[in-house]
Amino acid sequence: MSDDVGEQLLETWGGDDPADALCRAQQAPTTTPDDELPRCPECQSVRLRARPGTPHQQPEKRDTDYWCENCHTAVDDPEAGR
Ligand SMILES: [Zn+2]
Repeated sequence: MSDDVGEQLLETWGGDDPADALCRAQQAPTTTPDDELPRCPECQSVRLRARPGTPHQQPEKRDTDYWCENCHTAVDDPEAGR
């Protein structure tokens, strides 16, 4: 687990111990880690892949294109768990 993930868990679940926060996150039935992931609008799969070759040199174009591994739909702007 990276520090970023640990901090995110603490932010979401509170407490001082990332492992404890993770434990609570895993036990919570309505908020799974999957809810934090962008989903395919077509099939609700979380198996989105960033398109290779997206240029990084244009800051205003940092929207990454994704495609769904499950149904192969192109996803321009996946939103996480809303
Ligand atoms: Zn899909």
